[in-house]
Amino acid sequence: MNVILLGPPGVGKGTQGVLLAEGKSWKHLSTGDILRANRREGTPLGQEAQKYMDAGELVPDELIVAMVKDTLAAMPSDQGVLFDGFPRTVPQAEALDVALEDLNRNVDRVVVLEADDDVLVKRLSGRRSCPDCGSVFNVYMNPPALEGTCDKCGADLVHRPDDNPETVQNRLTVYAEQTEPLIRFYEGREGVMLKIPGVGSVEEIQNGILAAL
Ligand code: AMP
Repeated sequence: MNVILLGPPGVGKGTQGVLLAEGKSWKHLSTGDILRANRREGTPLGQEAQKYMDAGELVPDELIVAMVKDTLAAMPSDQGVLFDGFPRTVPQAEALDVALEDLNRNVDRVVVLEADDDVLVKRLSGRRSCPDCGSVFNVYMNPPALEGTCDKCGADLVHRPDDNPETVQNRLTVYAEQTEPLIRFYEGREGVMLKIPGVGSVEEIQNGILAAL
């Protein structure tokens, strides 16, 4: 099964993606997480991506597509994949179709999580992420058991630099202009698109996704 998780920044793709991939034993392929790991390690890709990420802009398609292709090529052919934060542009979606076809795969489902901008801004400002294992918490909605500490691996949680108010606004604009058109791109495909309200508790949203799948 190859599933794309689509939705604006702050809608809960990371939180829901980790849960869903774990429950289904799928690979959680988050391009944002791969880019942040490259930044931490100071790779050429990480250095190149930094300026775009800090401004809330998208990293160029060629870099992202090459990164995703490498990840797919390194996986067993029968491994299910949950794409989180990818594709984010129509050219990325077209490149994904070609890459999957080369591997005898295709896009089985696109799960679209939806929420209003005011909810998204609040969620992003409360978000705390684990730099080590990628777990995501929210001080308002899904706080860690011990403040500032990852429940899963015990690392100190961080407030992502691109979750500051100006960058958040730009990320929402970039989403509306460049990523939202993907809904039309996939909408024509019979039985592929699942729209789920991204509001409620983490568990309610996850149950909504599972029921739709
Ligand atoms: P995310 O963690 O998915 O919100 O991604 C954080 C940042 O990484 C984004 O604001 C972009 O700068 C960059 N990024 C992640 N995924 C992509 C993608 N598929 N295409 C372009 N840029 C991306």
